[in-house]
Amino acid sequence: MIEVELVEKSGRNFITGAAILLFLFATPSPALAKGPDLIVYGDYVLTMDPSRPLLNDGAVVVSGDRIVAIGPRSEIDREYVATRTISGNGRVLMPGLINGHTHTAMTLFRGMVDDLNLMTWLNNYVFPMEARFVTPDFVRTGTELACWEMIRGGTTTFVDMYFYPDEIAGVVERCGLRAVVAAPHIDYPSPGFSGWDDSFAAATDFVARWQGKQPRITPAFAPHAPYTVSPQHLQATVEKAEEMNALISMHLAEAPAETDYIQKNFKTTPVQHVAGLGMYRQRLIAAHMVQLNDADIALTAEAGVGAIHNPTSNMKLGAGVSPVPAMLAAGVNVGLGPDGAASNNDLDMWEEVRMAALLHKLDTGDPTALPAEQALAMATRIGAHAIRMGKVIGQLKTGMQADLIQLSLGKTRHLPLYDINSHLVYVLDSTDVLTSVVAGKVLMEDRKVLTIDEAELRANVIKVSGEIRAALEQQGRQQDKLQDEQQPE
Ligand SMILES: [Zn+2]
Repeated sequence: MIEVELVEKSGRNFITGAAILLFLFATPSPALAKGPDLIVYGDYVLTMDPSRPLLNDGAVVVSGDRIVAIGPRSEIDREYVATRTISGNGRVLMPGLINGHTHTAMTLFRGMVDDLNLMTWLNNYVFPMEARFVTPDFVRTGTELACWEMIRGGTTTFVDMYFYPDEIAGVVERCGLRAVVAAPHIDYPSPGFSGWDDSFAAATDFVARWQGKQPRITPAFAPHAPYTVSPQHLQATVEKAEEMNALISMHLAEAPAETDYIQKNFKTTPVQHVAGLGMYRQRLIAAHMVQLNDADIALTAEAGVGAIHNPTSNMKLGAGVSPVPAMLAAGVNVGLGPDGAASNNDLDMWEEVRMAALLHKLDTGDPTALPAEQALAMATRIGAHAIRMGKVIGQLKTGMQADLIQLSLGKTRHLPLYDINSHLVYVLDSTDVLTSVVAGKVLMEDRKVLTIDEAELRANVIKVSGEIRAALEQQGRQQDKLQDEQQPE
């Protein structure tokens, strides 16, 4: 009976030799009895599982949202017939990438202004434009643009921190990605809020409403940074997060200006400041982590805080170089993230992987620093641990969530191929990603995103960006006028 069910589910009208063999000799596994939903193949299967890192000519079997088997193609084909298969010819199959820190809707500010000093960029452009334009509609469109770009680039999970998190969660729910959606709260006025009290209350309400609601969405708290949130409010955040068993995502130790501010006001480092407030716990996902001394690194490792490295954003804003090799050596889980598209200017995780691998060789003067395999692990297995999801994503392993991607190895520029890890970091890029599967659902096939209407998205983005452009032109005219008035006669 099992075989009949299997054959019917597979859509085949004959019983395969393998099925007959199984009928006669094998005890069918529970997965086989139900018939898996999907088998994805790969000429190379890079599992990121340290016990079995690479399979040549392998396959991953998916039932529901989980991986139920992984192995050589010959074994898998002997044991399973699935409803749907995706060929692995000329392809590498691996876990989806994990973007540990981003601000999705800032895609709509992509390339608005570049090459300015951080405070000029923030105070003259980003904050005024956010105050003027950020609405629920803006966030919905910007998040959709970000999710489309992330699906196309092989990101399957992201940690977001932006205004109107209900809109972000709505987009995530519809487009099929997995996300930690962290609701921002800050001591100053922000879109929709007058200050701390209302933004913190709304974040608490958001976390309460989304906990357990959608398995792909993890709501979290997002106090902006130690220089924009008072010690008392940071303490209130960690107390609430403990009470609700929620994650906290925060910018920490990003730039020299923050270190100077904390040193001046609290006579310590940013890391030791927040650690002293009780924030240094495993539930903290700390983005940037540039300005760390040896004691800060040891404290981060001991507390089990997840760190997210943002190499492109740090370089572009001149923030400095995060001591990533030292953190990894100390046992800190360091993930990767592009930060927002306003300071990057894309959400391409392959670029972050390559930048990380190159930056630390340059910074340390040691070409053996951050080898390709380790940079890839930061975007997958280690990144998953950094955001407290290491048991469910980041590796292709039986029992884990089926979050996986395929990349093409078939282009002439990919030839020759000697080492798959090296190729993924130094040769391939986001345009080579062909397939994306999250929680067992196919989100992209042959580079076509199946869950977002691209034409409608483009029209929405062009409309909003037209309004932003007009506002920038108006602001430019005002600044020219101001400069003219200030010119001596
Ligand atoms: Zn950020």
